[in-house]
Amino acid sequence: MRNLVAGYGGKVAVDNISFSVAAGEHLSLLGPSGCGKSTTLRCIAGLETPFEGEIAIGGNVVFSSKDRINLPPEKRNLAMVFQSYAIWPHMSVFENVAYGLRIKGPRGEQLNEQVYRALEMVGMREFADRQATDLSGGQQQRVALARSYAVRPQAMLLDEPLSNLDARLRTRMRDELKELQQQTNLSTIYVTHDQEEAMAISDRIIVMREGSIEQIGAPIDIYDRPRNRFVADFIGAANVLAAEVLGTDGSGATRLRVGAAEILSGVQVEGVSARPGSAQAIIVRTVYPQIQRQPFGDARNAWTATVTRRVLLGDLVAYDIRWPGGDLRLNAFPSVLLEEGAQVYLHIPPERVVLVES
Ligand code: ADP
Repeated sequence: MRNLVAGYGGKVAVDNISFSVAAGEHLSLLGPSGCGKSTTLRCIAGLETPFEGEIAIGGNVVFSSKDRINLPPEKRNLAMVFQSYAIWPHMSVFENVAYGLRIKGPRGEQLNEQVYRALEMVGMREFADRQATDLSGGQQQRVALARSYAVRPQAMLLDEPLSNLDARLRTRMRDELKELQQQTNLSTIYVTHDQEEAMAISDRIIVMREGSIEQIGAPIDIYDRPRNRFVADFIGAANVLAAEVLGTDGSGATRLRVGAAEILSGVQVEGVSARPGSAQAIIVRTVYPQIQRQPFGDARNAWTATVTRRVLLGDLVAYDIRWPGGDLRLNAFPSVLLEEGAQVYLHIPPERVVLVES
């Protein structure tokens, strides 16, 4: 996709975005509701006509504003699965999967084989003769997936496919989808607003905001090296603190002043100025600071601190602490519980302190 601009009426919903998907890759478009994810996907499918830009699939240009190319959806060899299952209620499960396939050619034994194989993939073979409306939501979505796999598309487009399922089923289907994607090696573009789903299922994630791309990267890159406050807040939980650049230390880390503390940052987002005197910000994920009763020896980035608040969350304990840099929120395991008011030692490894633009 190159320089895609799209929207409705005269209003721009997707503002000049470019990205590519590798063969066999699972790419997710992630962002809050209304940021342009579905519009982007629908432009790829051919269900919306972009204002500008170019889209090519497997080397074939399917849309180009410059060359006036705009292939209809059925000529793009893609399959799309929506949040609403969009199965045909008056047909059996078998017929739901066979319908789209017949249009493409196969008949008789070949058709049967392709339908059963697709149903097998999603664990629905024994339901072939059932009426589609007699199925649960999860089963209906499996049928919709089988229908997509059956036509052997060049790529799969999925728009919030699990959003109508309850939490437990959603987690299970998410893991199954990932396995299917790996088995079939089908290039997949997946729209979701659920950060955990995107993290769990994707090879790469595109974080979108208000029609633009904020960051593209592998899940762990986006988690550990968020480009800005928006990305840090949208994925996981993070402290964002104002910081003034002091200089660099011998190891190449950036020395910063945060409140009354001096802190080293070992991770710097591309393009952010580390010029001494510049006002920037640091991002510290709540899972990375450590607190304990004993000093951290000669560790860098260690201070004394006070526990101001403790909340037991079950698998994790949330602490608010006061340190020379101000206030900090962190999560720890409940193996050691520190009480409110306790004097503790705090350590933030420099490689967990991300310097970003303020
Ligand atoms: P997302 O998928 O990230 O929730 P969408 O791509 O659906 O976002 O929407 C992007 C923007 O375009 C939003 O402001 C939305 O209100 C608007 N929009 C989406 N579909 C239509 C439509 N059919 N007509 C007019 N505006 C639309």
